Amino acid sequence: MQGEDQPNAVQRGGFDPHTVFAKILGGELPATFVYRDELVAAFLDIQPITPGHTLVVPLVKAASLAELPPATGARMFTVAQRVGAALRGSGLACEGVNLFLADGVAAGQTVFHLHLHVFPRYADDGFRWKLPERYYQPPPRADIEAAGERIRAALEGQRPG
Ligand code: 5GP
Repeated sequence: MQGEDQPNAVQRGGFDPHTVFAKILGGELPATFVYRDELVAAFLDIQPITPGHTLVVPLVKAASLAELPPATGARMFTVAQRVGAALRGSGLACEGVNLFLADGVAAGQTVFHLHLHVFPRYADDGFRWKLPERYYQPPPRADIEAAGERIRAALEGQRPG
């Protein structure tokens, strides 16, 4: 029987099985694994923002958030929490932790097998978010309310889940 965390036909059709992460998960390419269970794995990023930068990756072939089974997404967050705590207790420089997920090219996604970045932060680690100029001139309250209204309507239009 196909369970919630098995890829369905749409997921299989929309997924490029030749991503580097698929190869890592399948053992074709090496990686430094720190965790694996029946839904997700975690291994170290080959180009870390800071030492210990870890990627939490679903075993299911989901390229995007839309394709990710909710139970797997929940497990990704649970494992990211654990990895964050492990980073803080690891002896690596870690005064804080960032989680980051890129869903789509415009969001900065480069590997189309979804993944949650977990990386240590510390003073003068060199990492900065570059914010647009408009950030420093917040919009009128009505604009924020209008955006909220659109999102509420879209949420109401979703099927339960
Ligand atoms: P994205 O830009 O899609 O959010 O993140 C992709 C991440 O995958 C980058 O941080 C990049 O360094 C990492 N990455 C790309 N290729 C490899 C690889 O072959 N092995 C590992 N461990 N990480 C990789």
